[in-house]
Amino acid sequence: MSISKKTAMVSACLLGINCRYDGKTKLNTHILIFLKDYNIVPFCPEQLGGLPTPRLESTKLSNNKLINKNNEDVTDQFLKGAKESLKIAEIITPDIIILKEGSPSCGLNNTNMNWKKEEGSGITASLLKNLNINLLSDELF
Ligand code: SF4
Repeated sequence: MSISKKTAMVSACLLGINCRYDGKTKLNTHILIFLKDYNIVPFCPEQLGGLPTPRLESTKLSNNKLINKNNEDVTDQFLKGAKESLKIAEIITPDIIILKEGSPSCGLNNTNMNWKKEEGSGITASLLKNLNINLLSDELF
């Protein structure tokens, strides 16, 4: 990793990693082009929290718990993934973090709440907001 380059931590699915709940990716080539001069650190909070890929889709509830499509409580895994992501950010102190909107983990301005896209942040994005790091939505690209 070159020390002269800036560093970007990025929701891994935006980079072409097949880490989404459905085993697919949300590749955004505009982001790849934007990041051509950056060192890139992909991260997927849901995988870091120990959830499998593919996995059942999950949503946030108003009581801050998370459940999957089988109605199983996955709050612990989501919290673990958020904390592990925070650790990575603290270790590498990236210049920017690019986050995937609409996710119950990574959503920056909107998330999945009660199975609908709603204003608000995913639980990883909420934790990352406590750092003094520039957070960018994938929808900017
Ligand atoms: Fe992408 Fe984040 Fe969902 Fe992982 S948790 S698949 S990085 S949006």
